[in-house]
Amino acid sequence: MIYIGCHLSVTNGYEAMGRTMCGFGGNTFAYFTRNPRGGRSKDIVPEDAEALNTLLQEKSFGPLVAHGSYTMNLCASNETTRSNGLDMFAQDLQRMEAFPENYYNFHPGAHTGQGTEKGIELIAKALNDNLFPEMRTIVLLETMAGKGTEMGGNFEELREIIDRVELKDKIGVCLDTCHVWDAGYDIAGDLDGVLQHFDDVIGLDRLYAIHFNDSKNPCGSHKDRHEKLGEGFIGMEAMKRIALHPALQNKPFILETPNDDAGYIKEIHTVLSWMDA
Ligand code: FE
Ligand code: FE
Ligand code: ZN
Repeated sequence: MIYIGCHLSVTNGYEAMGRTMCGFGGNTFAYFTRNPRGGRSKDIVPEDAEALNTLLQEKSFGPLVAHGSYTMNLCASNETTRSNGLDMFAQDLQRMEAFPENYYNFHPGAHTGQGTEKGIELIAKALNDNLFPEMRTIVLLETMAGKGTEMGGNFEELREIIDRVELKDKIGVCLDTCHVWDAGYDIAGDLDGVLQHFDDVIGLDRLYAIHFNDSKNPCGSHKDRHEKLGEGFIGMEAMKRIALHPALQNKPFILETPNDDAGYIKEIHTVLSWMDA
């Protein structure tokens, strides 16, 4: 089995997200740790955090996959952008401790012209400066589509970042199916081959979570436009093979598809029906 859920809004608080996901029929979810366009994060009310933690246990949820801000760029060339990102990162990791044993995933960043080597160096430094031995969160680098100067558009770059991280038990990868497809990995035609390559380069033991999205574009397009399950270029049969793949079991799968609530509920039930069959 896998854990399935979607991205939710934190507007009504933390317990509310858990209740919403129970209503959707899922057993994990994602949320932005702050406004996705940057800016402030709401303070966490301790009673609200406790209520969510209790609910997650009662309902046997899988790990949550909180998502760092899109504006956070830990390897930006611009000093202000980079230091704003580092502030967000440090704060987010502290706040995650209110929800122990979950995941925090973020986009590695864009090197904005400094080159991939400098990008790797800056991201690894940010991780080494902010991960701490007592933390109870696993921090996940997201696989990216390789748009522009975006880092993480191939497995090798992620491997190089991870190689430089000191606290190896705190770092992992979140594989976004739309992003790897757009990056040029043919998960529809050769899923076993792609996962074997991931294992060779990074190691499947570093893979903690899946962003489960179809793509509006062909493999290798470097676009990053998510599509509803089965309505994109990856297609429903391939999405099903991914959800049922032995190497991906027991992980949280997060839908980031362009849907309203009804659409998410439908996709969650589609995925659940594959597991029942
Ligand atoms: Fe993402
Ligand atoms: Fe994603
Ligand atoms: Zn994306």
